[in-house]
Amino acid sequence: MYEAVIGLEVHLHLKTRTKAFCGCEADYFGAEPNTHTCPVCLGLPGALPVANRLAVEYGLRLALALGAEVPGRLVFHRKHYFYPDLPKNYQISQYDLPLGRGGSLPLGGRRVRIKRLHLEEDAGKSLHLEGRTLLDLNRAGSPLIELVTEPDLKTPEEARLFLQRIQALVQTLGISDASPEEGKLRADVNVSVRRVGEPLGTKVEIKNLNSFKSVQRALEYEIRRQTEVLRRGERVKQATLGFEEGSGKTYPMRTKEEEADYRYFPEPDLPPVAIPRDWLEEVRQSLPELPWEKEARYRALGIKEKDAEVLAYAPALSRFLDEALSLGLASPQALANWLLADLMGLLNERGLGLEATRLSPEAFARLVALFERGEVTSRVAKGLLPELLEGQDPEALVRARGLRVVADEGALKALVAEAIAAMPEAAESVRQGKLKALDALVGQVMRKTKGQAKPEAVRRLLLEALGVG
Ligand code: ADP
Ligand code: ZN
Ligand code: MG
Repeated sequence: MYEAVIGLEVHLHLKTRTKAFCGCEADYFGAEPNTHTCPVCLGLPGALPVANRLAVEYGLRLALALGAEVPGRLVFHRKHYFYPDLPKNYQISQYDLPLGRGGSLPLGGRRVRIKRLHLEEDAGKSLHLEGRTLLDLNRAGSPLIELVTEPDLKTPEEARLFLQRIQALVQTLGISDASPEEGKLRADVNVSVRRVGEPLGTKVEIKNLNSFKSVQRALEYEIRRQTEVLRRGERVKQATLGFEEGSGKTYPMRTKEEEADYRYFPEPDLPPVAIPRDWLEEVRQSLPELPWEKEARYRALGIKEKDAEVLAYAPALSRFLDEALSLGLASPQALANWLLADLMGLLNERGLGLEATRLSPEAFARLVALFERGEVTSRVAKGLLPELLEGQDPEALVRARGLRVVADEGALKALVAEAIAAMPEAAESVRQGKLKALDALVGQVMRKTKGQAKPEAVRRLLLEALGVG
Protein backbone atom coordinates (compact mmCIF):
# COMPACT_ATOMS: atom_id res chain seq x y z
CA MET A 1 0.00 0.00 0.00
CA TYR A 2 1.29 3.39 -1.01
CA GLU A 3 0.21 6.74 0.34
CA ALA A 4 0.78 10.32 -0.72
CA VAL A 5 2.22 13.09 1.44
CA ILE A 6 1.43 16.65 0.43
CA GLY A 7 2.64 20.07 1.58
CA LEU A 8 1.46 23.38 0.14
CA GLU A 9 3.01 26.79 -0.42
CA VAL A 10 0.21 29.30 -0.84
CA HIS A 11 0.63 32.83 -2.18
CA LEU A 12 -2.04 35.31 -1.20
CA HIS A 13 -2.37 38.83 -2.57
CA LEU A 14 -3.05 41.32 0.17
CA LYS A 15 -5.89 43.77 -0.22
CA THR A 16 -3.94 46.90 0.74
CA ARG A 17 -4.45 50.19 -1.05
CA THR A 18 -0.77 50.58 -1.88
CA LYS A 19 2.03 48.18 -2.77
CA ALA A 20 4.33 46.53 -0.22
CA PHE A 21 7.20 49.04 -0.30
CA CYS A 22 6.02 52.06 -2.30
CA GLY A 23 2.98 54.29 -2.70
CA CYS A 24 1.76 52.82 -6.01
CA GLU A 25 -1.82 51.66 -6.03
CA ALA A 26 -1.86 47.91 -5.47
CA ASP A 27 -5.13 47.29 -7.27
CA TYR A 28 -3.81 47.15 -10.82
CA PHE A 29 -6.27 44.56 -12.15
CA GLY A 30 -7.39 45.62 -15.59
CA ALA A 31 -5.12 48.71 -15.64
CA GLU A 32 -2.95 49.71 -18.63
CA PRO A 33 0.43 47.96 -18.39
CA ASN A 34 3.15 49.85 -16.51
CA THR A 35 0.87 52.57 -15.17
CA HIS A 36 1.12 51.48 -11.53
CA THR A 37 4.85 51.92 -11.19
CA CYS A 38 7.36 54.25 -9.56
CA PRO A 39 11.14 54.34 -9.08
CA VAL A 40 10.88 51.97 -6.09
CA CYS A 41 8.93 49.15 -7.74
CA LEU A 42 10.83 49.67 -11.02
CA GLY A 43 14.03 49.08 -9.07
CA LEU A 44 15.67 52.33 -10.18
CA PRO A 45 19.00 53.11 -8.51
CA GLY A 46 18.75 55.11 -5.33
CA ALA A 47 15.05 54.53 -4.75
CA LEU A 48 14.31 53.41 -1.20
CA PRO A 49 11.54 51.09 0.00
CA VAL A 50 9.25 51.83 2.94
CA ALA A 51 7.35 48.93 4.52
CA ASN A 52 3.58 49.14 4.21
CA ARG A 53 2.20 49.09 7.75
CA LEU A 54 -1.17 47.71 6.67
CA ALA A 55 0.48 44.81 4.83
CA VAL A 56 2.35 43.95 8.03
CA GLU A 57 -0.88 44.21 10.00
CA TYR A 58 -2.67 41.92 7.54
CA GLY A 59 0.14 39.40 7.88
CA LEU A 60 -0.18 39.60 11.66
CA ARG A 61 -3.92 39.02 11.43
CA LEU A 62 -3.37 35.79 9.57
CA ALA A 63 -0.54 34.71 11.86
CA LEU A 64 -2.65 35.30 14.98
CA ALA A 65 -5.75 33.67 13.49
CA LEU A 66 -3.74 30.52 12.79
CA GLY A 67 -2.15 30.57 16.23
CA ALA A 68 1.35 31.12 14.82
CA GLU A 69 4.17 32.47 16.90
CA VAL A 70 5.02 36.08 16.01
CA PRO A 71 8.58 37.33 16.56
CA GLY A 72 9.40 40.53 18.41
CA ARG A 73 11.00 42.09 15.33
CA LEU A 74 10.09 42.65 11.72
CA VAL A 75 13.04 41.66 9.54
CA PHE A 76 13.25 41.62 5.75
CA HIS A 77 15.75 39.80 3.57
CA ARG A 78 16.75 40.02 -0.07
CA LYS A 79 16.23 36.87 -2.09
CA HIS A 80 18.24 37.03 -5.29
CA TYR A 81 17.40 35.59 -8.62
CA PHE A 82 17.66 36.91 -12.12
CA TYR A 83 14.49 37.16 -14.12
CA PRO A 84 13.28 39.80 -16.59
CA ASP A 85 10.14 40.63 -14.60
CA LEU A 86 12.08 41.16 -11.38
CA PRO A 87 13.54 44.65 -11.90
CA LYS A 88 15.83 44.74 -8.85
CA ASN A 89 17.13 41.19 -9.49
CA TYR A 90 16.13 40.42 -5.95
CA GLN A 91 12.84 40.12 -4.18
CA ILE A 92 12.28 41.62 -0.76
CA SER A 93 11.11 38.72 1.35
CA GLN A 94 11.62 37.26 4.80
CA TYR A 95 13.99 34.50 5.72
CA ASP A 96 14.94 33.27 9.16
CA LEU A 97 12.53 35.44 11.09
CA PRO A 98 9.19 35.17 9.29
CA LEU A 99 6.09 37.00 10.46
CA GLY A 100 4.64 33.75 11.75
CA ARG A 101 5.93 30.33 12.66
CA GLY A 102 3.84 27.29 13.61
CA GLY A 103 0.10 27.34 14.13
CA SER A 104 -2.49 25.18 12.41
CA LEU A 105 -5.78 25.04 10.57
CA PRO A 106 -8.53 22.57 11.53
CA LEU A 107 -9.55 20.17 8.77
CA GLY A 108 -11.65 17.04 8.98
CA GLY A 109 -11.15 16.48 12.70
CA ARG A 110 -7.37 16.98 12.40
CA ARG A 111 -5.15 20.02 12.38
CA VAL A 112 -2.95 20.82 9.40
CA ARG A 113 0.19 22.32 10.83
CA ILE A 114 1.54 25.57 9.41
CA LYS A 115 5.28 25.73 9.06
CA ARG A 116 5.65 29.45 8.47
CA LEU A 117 4.14 32.46 6.85
CA HIS A 118 5.98 35.47 5.61
CA LEU A 119 5.54 38.75 3.75
CA GLU A 120 7.10 39.35 0.37
CA GLU A 121 6.65 41.33 -2.80
CA ASP A 122 5.37 39.93 -6.06
CA ALA A 123 7.27 40.13 -9.36
CA GLY A 124 5.96 41.69 -12.58
CA LYS A 125 4.58 39.76 -15.50
CA SER A 126 6.14 38.71 -18.79
CA LEU A 127 3.83 38.56 -21.77
CA HIS A 128 5.03 36.39 -24.61
CA LEU A 129 3.62 37.65 -27.91
CA GLU A 130 4.54 36.65 -31.45
CA GLY A 131 8.14 35.93 -30.68
CA ARG A 132 8.57 39.00 -28.51
CA THR A 133 8.41 39.33 -24.76
CA LEU A 134 6.75 42.35 -23.18
CA LEU A 135 6.96 43.30 -19.54
CA ASP A 136 4.19 44.63 -17.36
CA LEU A 137 5.48 45.78 -13.99
CA ASN A 138 2.14 46.77 -12.46
CA ARG A 139 2.26 43.70 -10.27
CA ALA A 140 5.90 44.20 -9.26
CA GLY A 141 6.11 45.08 -5.59
CA SER A 142 2.54 44.20 -4.71
CA PRO A 143 2.20 42.64 -1.27
CA LEU A 144 1.98 38.89 -0.83
CA ILE A 145 1.82 36.48 2.02
CA GLU A 146 3.41 33.13 1.47
CA LEU A 147 2.10 30.44 3.74
CA VAL A 148 3.86 27.07 3.93
CA THR A 149 2.28 23.98 5.48
CA GLU A 150 3.99 21.01 7.04
CA PRO A 151 3.57 17.86 4.93
CA ASP A 152 0.30 17.02 6.69
CA LEU A 153 -2.10 16.58 3.78
CA LYS A 154 -2.88 13.16 2.39
CA THR A 155 -5.09 13.39 -0.65
CA PRO A 156 -5.70 15.75 -3.59
CA GLU A 157 -9.18 16.48 -2.23
CA GLU A 158 -7.78 17.38 1.14
CA ALA A 159 -5.32 19.75 -0.54
CA ARG A 160 -8.17 21.45 -2.41
CA LEU A 161 -10.25 21.66 0.75
CA PHE A 162 -7.33 23.16 2.65
CA LEU A 163 -6.96 25.88 0.01
CA GLN A 164 -10.67 26.63 0.13
CA ARG A 165 -10.45 26.96 3.88
CA ILE A 166 -7.50 29.32 3.66
CA GLN A 167 -9.48 31.30 1.11
CA ALA A 168 -12.47 31.48 3.46
CA LEU A 169 -10.23 32.44 6.36
CA VAL A 170 -8.46 35.33 4.61
CA GLN A 171 -11.74 36.59 3.17
CA THR A 172 -13.24 36.52 6.65
CA LEU A 173 -10.19 38.38 7.97
CA GLY A 174 -10.67 40.93 5.18
CA ILE A 175 -7.02 40.74 4.15
CA SER A 176 -7.27 39.20 0.67
CA ASP A 177 -9.87 38.47 -2.00
CA ALA A 178 -7.97 35.22 -2.56
CA SER A 179 -9.58 34.82 -5.97
CA PRO A 180 -7.60 32.27 -8.00
CA GLU A 181 -9.14 33.61 -11.24
CA GLU A 182 -7.41 36.95 -10.61
CA GLY A 183 -4.17 35.31 -9.54
CA LYS A 184 -4.77 36.45 -5.96
CA LEU A 185 -4.39 32.91 -4.64
CA ARG A 186 -1.71 30.73 -6.21
CA ALA A 187 -0.24 27.53 -4.89
CA ASP A 188 2.87 25.44 -5.34
CA VAL A 189 2.26 21.87 -4.29
CA ASN A 190 4.85 19.46 -2.93
CA VAL A 191 4.09 15.79 -3.11
CA SER A 192 5.81 12.50 -2.42
CA VAL A 193 4.62 8.92 -2.25
CA ARG A 194 5.74 6.28 0.23
CA ARG A 195 4.82 2.85 1.46
CA VAL A 196 2.55 3.21 4.46
CA GLY A 197 4.65 3.31 7.61
CA GLU A 198 7.90 4.23 5.87
CA PRO A 199 9.79 7.55 6.16
CA LEU A 200 8.95 10.41 3.80
CA GLY A 201 9.78 9.81 0.15
CA THR A 202 11.49 12.16 -2.29
CA LYS A 203 9.16 15.03 -3.17
CA VAL A 204 8.56 16.96 -6.33
CA GLU A 205 7.22 20.50 -6.42
CA ILE A 206 4.56 21.54 -8.92
CA LYS A 207 4.70 25.30 -9.41
CA ASN A 208 2.16 28.02 -9.89
CA LEU A 209 -1.19 26.31 -9.88
CA ASN A 210 -3.92 28.88 -10.17
CA SER A 211 -7.16 27.04 -9.64
CA PHE A 212 -8.47 24.60 -7.06
CA LYS A 213 -9.24 22.19 -9.82
CA SER A 214 -5.73 22.20 -11.26
CA VAL A 215 -4.28 21.62 -7.78
CA GLN A 216 -6.41 18.54 -7.48
CA ARG A 217 -5.76 17.30 -11.02
CA ALA A 218 -2.01 17.91 -10.89
CA LEU A 219 -1.79 16.01 -7.62
CA GLU A 220 -3.86 13.11 -8.90
CA TYR A 221 -1.62 12.80 -11.95
CA GLU A 222 1.59 13.12 -9.99
CA ILE A 223 0.59 10.62 -7.29
CA ARG A 224 -0.28 8.08 -9.98
CA ARG A 225 3.04 8.71 -11.74
CA GLN A 226 5.15 8.41 -8.58
CA THR A 227 3.31 5.30 -7.44
CA GLU A 228 4.11 3.64 -10.77
CA VAL A 229 7.78 4.62 -10.50
CA LEU A 230 7.95 3.06 -7.02
CA ARG A 231 6.07 -0.07 -8.11
CA ARG A 232 8.69 -0.61 -10.82
CA GLY A 233 11.28 -0.56 -8.03
CA GLU A 234 12.74 2.74 -9.24
CA ARG A 235 13.31 5.99 -7.37
CA VAL A 236 11.42 9.24 -7.73
CA LYS A 237 13.74 12.05 -8.84
CA GLN A 238 13.48 15.34 -7.03
CA ALA A 239 12.16 17.90 -9.50
CA THR A 240 10.36 21.16 -10.10
CA LEU A 241 7.42 20.58 -12.38
CA GLY A 242 4.80 22.57 -14.22
CA PHE A 243 1.27 21.41 -14.95
CA GLU A 244 -0.30 21.51 -18.36
CA GLU A 245 -4.05 21.99 -18.16
CA GLY A 246 -4.75 20.59 -21.61
CA SER A 247 -3.14 17.19 -21.20
CA GLY A 248 -3.56 17.05 -17.42
CA LYS A 249 0.12 16.09 -17.10
CA THR A 250 3.07 17.49 -15.22
CA TYR A 251 6.31 18.37 -17.03
CA PRO A 252 9.82 19.26 -15.82
CA MET A 253 10.55 22.99 -15.44
CA ARG A 254 13.82 24.78 -14.84
CA THR A 255 16.05 23.17 -12.28
CA LYS A 256 15.25 24.91 -9.07
CA GLU A 257 17.69 27.20 -7.34
CA GLU A 258 19.13 25.76 -4.19
CA GLU A 259 18.79 27.87 -1.12
CA ALA A 260 22.43 29.01 -1.40
CA ASP A 261 21.77 30.31 -4.93
CA TYR A 262 19.35 32.86 -3.53
CA ARG A 263 22.12 34.49 -1.52
CA TYR A 264 19.72 35.66 1.16
CA PHE A 265 20.97 38.62 3.14
CA PRO A 266 19.30 41.18 5.40
CA GLU A 267 17.68 44.02 3.47
CA PRO A 268 19.91 47.00 4.27
CA ASP A 269 17.30 49.53 3.16
CA LEU A 270 14.72 48.26 5.65
CA PRO A 271 16.37 47.98 9.05
CA PRO A 272 14.59 45.68 11.52
CA VAL A 273 11.89 47.33 13.59
CA ALA A 274 10.20 46.11 16.73
CA ILE A 275 6.71 44.64 16.51
CA PRO A 276 5.23 46.29 19.60
CA ARG A 277 3.40 43.79 21.80
CA ASP A 278 0.53 46.20 22.38
CA TRP A 279 0.03 46.48 18.61
CA LEU A 280 -0.08 42.71 18.43
CA GLU A 281 -2.66 42.66 21.22
CA GLU A 282 -4.72 45.28 19.39
CA VAL A 283 -4.66 43.19 16.22
CA ARG A 284 -5.65 40.11 18.19
CA GLN A 285 -8.60 41.95 19.73
CA SER A 286 -9.74 43.13 16.32
CA LEU A 287 -9.96 39.65 14.79
CA PRO A 288 -13.47 38.78 13.63
CA GLU A 289 -15.15 35.50 14.50
CA LEU A 290 -13.08 32.84 12.70
CA PRO A 291 -14.68 30.18 10.50
CA TRP A 292 -14.09 27.35 12.96
CA GLU A 293 -15.55 29.48 15.76
CA LYS A 294 -18.55 30.15 13.55
CA GLU A 295 -18.89 26.43 12.93
CA ALA A 296 -18.97 25.75 16.68
CA ARG A 297 -21.57 28.49 17.20
CA TYR A 298 -23.81 27.13 14.45
CA ARG A 299 -23.62 23.66 15.92
CA ALA A 300 -24.49 25.00 19.36
CA LEU A 301 -27.58 26.57 17.75
CA GLY A 302 -28.65 23.11 16.64
CA ILE A 303 -27.56 23.30 12.99
CA LYS A 304 -26.51 19.90 11.63
CA GLU A 305 -22.79 19.20 11.63
CA LYS A 306 -22.35 19.13 7.86
CA ASP A 307 -24.47 22.25 7.27
CA ALA A 308 -22.65 24.15 10.02
CA GLU A 309 -19.33 23.36 8.39
CA VAL A 310 -20.37 24.34 4.88
CA LEU A 311 -21.93 27.60 6.08
CA ALA A 312 -19.05 28.58 8.36
CA TYR A 313 -16.52 28.34 5.52
CA ALA A 314 -18.63 30.28 3.02
CA PRO A 315 -18.12 33.92 4.07
CA ALA A 316 -20.90 35.50 1.99
CA LEU A 317 -23.42 32.84 2.99
CA SER A 318 -22.56 32.99 6.66
CA ARG A 319 -22.83 36.79 6.71
CA PHE A 320 -26.29 36.41 5.20
CA LEU A 321 -27.21 33.65 7.64
CA ASP A 322 -25.96 35.64 10.63
CA GLU A 323 -28.17 38.56 9.71
CA ALA A 324 -31.14 36.27 9.22
CA LEU A 325 -30.42 34.55 12.54
CA SER A 326 -30.18 37.82 14.41
CA LEU A 327 -33.82 38.61 13.59
CA GLY A 328 -34.99 35.56 15.52
CA LEU A 329 -37.87 34.94 13.10
CA ALA A 330 -37.11 31.39 11.99
CA SER A 331 -35.28 28.46 13.52
CA PRO A 332 -31.55 28.12 12.75
CA GLN A 333 -31.86 24.72 11.10
CA ALA A 334 -34.77 25.83 8.92
CA LEU A 335 -32.77 28.87 7.79
CA ALA A 336 -29.79 26.62 7.07
CA ASN A 337 -31.91 24.18 5.08
CA TRP A 338 -33.55 26.85 3.00
CA LEU A 339 -30.26 28.59 2.43
CA LEU A 340 -28.24 25.54 1.44
CA ALA A 341 -30.84 23.56 -0.46
CA ASP A 342 -33.44 25.85 -1.96
CA LEU A 343 -31.75 29.21 -2.25
CA MET A 344 -28.33 27.87 -3.32
CA GLY A 345 -30.02 25.47 -5.73
CA LEU A 346 -31.81 28.35 -7.38
CA LEU A 347 -28.72 30.59 -7.46
CA ASN A 348 -26.56 27.82 -8.94
CA GLU A 349 -29.20 27.16 -11.56
CA ARG A 350 -29.03 30.80 -12.57
CA GLY A 351 -25.28 31.12 -12.13
CA LEU A 352 -25.80 33.98 -9.67
CA GLY A 353 -24.04 34.88 -6.44
CA LEU A 354 -26.11 35.89 -3.43
CA GLU A 355 -24.74 39.43 -3.59
CA ALA A 356 -25.96 39.80 -7.17
CA THR A 357 -29.58 39.50 -6.04
CA ARG A 358 -31.89 41.89 -4.20
CA LEU A 359 -32.82 39.32 -1.58
CA SER A 360 -32.36 40.65 1.93
CA PRO A 361 -31.67 38.37 4.89
CA GLU A 362 -34.84 39.77 6.41
CA ALA A 363 -37.16 38.89 3.52
CA PHE A 364 -35.56 35.46 3.44
CA ALA A 365 -36.09 34.92 7.16
CA ARG A 366 -39.71 36.08 6.87
CA LEU A 367 -40.34 33.58 4.08
CA VAL A 368 -38.86 30.73 6.09
CA ALA A 369 -40.93 31.85 9.08
CA LEU A 370 -44.14 31.79 7.01
CA PHE A 371 -43.33 28.19 6.14
CA GLU A 372 -42.34 27.25 9.68
CA ARG A 373 -45.56 28.68 11.12
CA GLY A 374 -47.47 26.56 8.62
CA GLU A 375 -48.91 29.61 6.85
CA VAL A 376 -47.59 28.58 3.46
CA THR A 377 -46.61 25.15 2.17
CA SER A 378 -43.04 24.41 1.22
CA ARG A 379 -44.10 24.31 -2.39
CA VAL A 380 -45.56 27.80 -2.23
CA ALA A 381 -42.51 29.12 -0.36
CA LYS A 382 -40.17 27.64 -2.95
CA GLY A 383 -42.24 29.11 -5.71
CA LEU A 384 -41.81 32.60 -4.23
CA LEU A 385 -38.02 32.47 -4.00
CA PRO A 386 -37.36 33.67 -7.58
CA GLU A 387 -39.44 36.79 -6.93
CA LEU A 388 -37.72 37.36 -3.61
CA LEU A 389 -34.44 37.47 -5.54
CA GLU A 390 -35.93 40.47 -7.35
CA GLY A 391 -36.50 42.23 -4.07
CA GLN A 392 -40.19 41.34 -3.57
CA ASP A 393 -41.73 41.05 -0.14
CA PRO A 394 -42.90 37.55 0.90
CA GLU A 395 -45.96 38.57 2.95
CA ALA A 396 -47.14 40.97 0.26
CA LEU A 397 -46.94 38.23 -2.38
CA VAL A 398 -48.80 35.75 -0.18
CA ARG A 399 -51.54 38.30 0.52
CA ALA A 400 -51.91 39.53 -3.03
CA ARG A 401 -52.23 36.03 -4.44
CA GLY A 402 -54.12 34.36 -1.64
CA LEU A 403 -51.38 31.79 -1.14
CA ARG A 404 -52.08 31.01 2.48
CA VAL A 405 -52.46 27.35 3.35
CA VAL A 406 -55.97 26.04 2.75
CA ALA A 407 -56.60 24.95 6.29
CA ASP A 408 -60.36 25.23 6.08
CA GLU A 409 -61.38 21.63 6.68
CA GLY A 410 -64.78 22.13 5.08
CA ALA A 411 -63.24 23.30 1.81
CA LEU A 412 -60.67 20.51 1.89
CA LYS A 413 -63.31 17.85 2.60
CA ALA A 414 -65.24 18.92 -0.47
CA LEU A 415 -62.10 18.60 -2.61
CA VAL A 416 -61.39 15.19 -1.06
CA ALA A 417 -64.85 13.97 -1.99
CA GLU A 418 -64.36 15.28 -5.53
CA ALA A 419 -61.04 13.47 -5.85
CA ILE A 420 -62.54 10.17 -4.67
CA ALA A 421 -65.37 10.52 -7.16
CA ALA A 422 -62.94 11.37 -9.97
CA MET A 423 -60.60 8.42 -9.23
CA PRO A 424 -62.75 5.48 -8.16
CA GLU A 425 -60.10 2.86 -8.89
CA ALA A 426 -57.48 4.51 -6.72
CA ALA A 427 -60.06 4.99 -4.00
CA GLU A 428 -60.98 1.29 -4.13
CA SER A 429 -57.33 0.23 -3.92
CA VAL A 430 -56.85 2.35 -0.82
CA ARG A 431 -59.99 0.83 0.75
CA GLN A 432 -58.38 -2.57 0.16
CA GLY A 433 -55.30 -1.43 2.05
CA LYS A 434 -53.06 -0.61 -0.94
CA LEU A 435 -51.85 2.67 0.49
CA LYS A 436 -49.59 3.33 -2.46
CA ALA A 437 -52.68 4.36 -4.40
CA LEU A 438 -53.22 7.17 -1.90
CA ASP A 439 -50.50 9.31 -3.49
CA ALA A 440 -52.53 9.77 -6.65
CA LEU A 441 -55.47 11.04 -4.65
CA VAL A 442 -53.33 13.34 -2.52
CA GLY A 443 -51.80 14.70 -5.73
CA GLN A 444 -55.25 15.37 -7.16
CA VAL A 445 -56.33 17.38 -4.11
CA MET A 446 -53.02 19.26 -3.96
CA ARG A 447 -53.44 20.28 -7.60
CA LYS A 448 -56.92 21.57 -6.89
CA THR A 449 -55.55 23.73 -4.06
CA LYS A 450 -52.60 24.83 -6.22
CA GLY A 451 -50.26 23.33 -3.64
CA GLN A 452 -51.71 25.40 -0.84
CA ALA A 453 -52.95 22.56 1.34
CA LYS A 454 -50.75 20.65 3.72
CA PRO A 455 -50.20 17.18 2.29
CA GLU A 456 -50.45 15.60 5.77
CA ALA A 457 -53.88 17.11 6.34
CA VAL A 458 -55.05 15.95 2.91
CA ARG A 459 -53.82 12.42 3.61
CA ARG A 460 -55.62 12.34 6.91
CA LEU A 461 -58.91 13.58 5.44
CA LEU A 462 -58.68 11.12 2.52
CA LEU A 463 -58.09 8.18 4.84
CA GLU A 464 -60.99 9.25 7.02
CA ALA A 465 -63.29 9.60 4.02
CA LEU A 466 -62.28 6.15 2.75
CA GLY A 467 -62.76 4.61 6.17
CA VAL A 468 -59.14 3.52 6.45
CA GLY A 469 -56.73 4.03 9.37
P1 ADP B 1 12.37 23.03 0.34
O1 ADP B 1 13.47 23.47 1.21
O2 ADP B 1 12.70 21.94 -0.61
O3 ADP B 1 11.58 24.14 -0.27
P2 ADP B 1 10.68 22.88 2.62
O4 ADP B 1 11.09 22.10 3.80
O5 ADP B 1 10.75 24.34 2.65
O6 ADP B 1 11.40 22.29 1.35
O7 ADP B 1 9.19 22.46 2.31
C1 ADP B 1 8.51 22.96 1.22
C2 ADP B 1 7.16 22.29 1.20
O8 ADP B 1 7.29 20.92 0.91
C3 ADP B 1 6.42 22.33 2.52
O9 ADP B 1 5.05 22.60 2.28
C4 ADP B 1 6.59 20.96 3.09
O10 ADP B 1 5.49 20.60 3.89
C5 ADP B 1 6.64 20.12 1.86
N1 ADP B 1 7.40 18.88 2.02
C6 ADP B 1 8.60 18.73 2.61
N2 ADP B 1 9.00 17.46 2.51
C7 ADP B 1 8.05 16.78 1.84
C8 ADP B 1 7.88 15.42 1.42
N3 ADP B 1 8.80 14.50 1.63
N4 ADP B 1 6.75 15.11 0.75
C9 ADP B 1 5.81 16.04 0.49
N5 ADP B 1 5.92 17.31 0.87
C10 ADP B 1 7.01 17.70 1.53
ZN1 ZN C 1 5.78 51.75 -6.96
MG1 MG D 1 10.68 26.22 0.49
